[in-house]
Amino acid sequence: MADLGKPQNTIAVLQKYNFNFQKKFGQNFLIDPRVLEKIIQAAEITQEDFVLEIGPGIGTMTQYLCENAREVAAVEIDRNLIPILADTLSAYENVEVLNEDILKVDINRLAQEKNQGRPIKVVANLPYYITTPIIMGLFESHVPVDSITIMVQKEVAERMQAGPGTKDYGALSLAVRYYARPEIVANVPPNCFIPRPKVGSAVIRLTRHRENPVQVRDESLMFRMIRASFNQRRKTLVNGLNNGAELNLEKQQIVNALGTMGLAPDIRGEALTLEQFAALSNLLGES
Ligand code: SAM
Repeated sequence: MADLGKPQNTIAVLQKYNFNFQKKFGQNFLIDPRVLEKIIQAAEITQEDFVLEIGPGIGTMTQYLCENAREVAAVEIDRNLIPILADTLSAYENVEVLNEDILKVDINRLAQEKNQGRPIKVVANLPYYITTPIIMGLFESHVPVDSITIMVQKEVAERMQAGPGTKDYGALSLAVRYYARPEIVANVPPNCFIPRPKVGSAVIRLTRHRENPVQVRDESLMFRMIRASFNQRRKTLVNGLNNGAELNLEKQQIVNALGTMGLAPDIRGEALTLEQFAALSNLLGES
């Protein structure tokens, strides 16, 4: 099968199967070989690797993955794409296509079966509406992951990579940083896709930490605190935490903890680093 990175080959496949794009599945297919090469490079795919691809579409990136990896599993929700994938991937014996919703797949089991529980690489050009649940699901369910290299909406990539004190910094930045090191590797304009999305995209690589960067006694408490701080972004951290629906913290208790850490009582949540949120949650969990 011809290289689907070339736009004319993708168009030929779409016409051959009279394919109708489904908006509800966020279908924008990549048609730029340079971007595809860039993703493979950024993900550092080698012949040793088992790769999980989420949402293969007509198999464009899957072809590149099959060329470079030991084995690929591609999970696609749209059953209309399954016969197309059987055709476009017919030259490869190292790929399995699963017609499933990725949010319902037991990825831990897949990693165990296909990679004997060793860390896997995840590569995806994600449907934007499920970006966050997919990434957080992978991290929180403790799937053995080496790295996740994904195409996401540009502004989501910027939020993931943002640091304290910037407008993009928020709960997503902190959650990502807790689990991984984020690095935007390419900006991708709408004309690299068919059909063209309305927004710009970016490829971001999230390299899973081998060891936790901070020591947190109660992860759930820290993340509830982070959510409460950014839900009410314009309020002080003390008020945000005190009003947090998922928390039960007294104002004075919070002021005291901030004092212990040498932080001002009117500081805002957006000024705190991950290390400071971790330290604050350890203090407040004790009191
Ligand atoms: N990887 C292809 C490419 O780069 O050309 C397609 C990318 S397209 C942005 C997203 C793909 O994810 C579509 O094929 C869509 O049908 C699939 N998809 C959407 N929701 C999904 C889900 N919950 N589970 C698995 N695949 C999904």
